[in-house]
Amino acid sequence: MHRPLLSLVVMIGGLISIMIAAAGCNRSDSAPPQSTDRPRVVATVEMIADVARSIAGDDLDVTTLIGAGMDPHLFKPTADTLATLRSADLVLYNGHHLEGQLGSALESLSQSKRVVPLAEGIESARLLADGDAIDPHIWMDVALWRDVAKLITDELVRLDPQHAEQYRSRSADYIKQLDELHAYATQAIASIPTEKRLLVTSHDAFNYLGRAYNLEVLAVQGISTESEAALSHVNDLVRTLVDRKVPSVFIESSVSPKGIRALIDGASSRGVTISIGGELFSDATGPLNSYEGSYIGMIDHNITLITRALGGVAPERGLHGKLSHVQH
Ligand SMILES: [Zn+2]
Repeated sequence: MHRPLLSLVVMIGGLISIMIAAAGCNRSDSAPPQSTDRPRVVATVEMIADVARSIAGDDLDVTTLIGAGMDPHLFKPTADTLATLRSADLVLYNGHHLEGQLGSALESLSQSKRVVPLAEGIESARLLADGDAIDPHIWMDVALWRDVAKLITDELVRLDPQHAEQYRSRSADYIKQLDELHAYATQAIASIPTEKRLLVTSHDAFNYLGRAYNLEVLAVQGISTESEAALSHVNDLVRTLVDRKVPSVFIESSVSPKGIRALIDGASSRGVTISIGGELFSDATGPLNSYEGSYIGMIDHNITLITRALGGVAPERGLHGKLSHVQH
């Protein structure tokens, strides 16, 4: 073990502790409940809320519970959060423990109103598991999220049958856009040269993307400063990166970049330069009111960035020419 690498790994552990403590501060971007004539849908994460909004149009009031850029794994409910949930006519969440600390609140709420774990509506044969735990990050496979969009449509129709026709019509339009996005992702990732088809990120959120678009995926997350096995995991990753001449690794907007920096430093100590390919949106969309703040924009950003950084071919500004940052 190289000493600089060891100290970096120790630093990562410290930072993770700080992040967990910071999450305990209970910052919530959720707006206080407001009265409205329209039925109110509350979604935990923006990936769900954005789809619901695209289908609901102006017929429903759709609110996101977990604010922009926040990590749903670490999100802790506040009094405001609970009030927002109580104000809902319908609650949509991902489930499979993505919203770990909201679990009991959602369960008790389900006694009195419709509370729907969307990912749990996908048949288990199509889901990935990590040991006993189901991997919750299904939005990374557009074809799976397309089925979630259909589940959302059914829920909105059930909530407000008067506007069923509008919801079905908007849903059909939206699903066409998802089909186009899925085709783009398939084509773009397929253009990456075979020997570079390896995606290395901070945490293990990209397994569905890897399966859907044929890309090997590895992540740093899970390392612990106390664990010798975790240190060997970092060493293994560095060895893999060096042996396979991987040009770039990726940070995530909602996760500390320190783990990825440890990999870059580890490779550097072996005389190999690896760059940061850019920042991916894993468990949160990009900034609100931007293209990347939508589900489609978030995935377009990820696919375009990964493709270009790993030597594939994709338009600089993405599928729709709307990406705000010039990529690689
Ligand atoms: Zn995650």
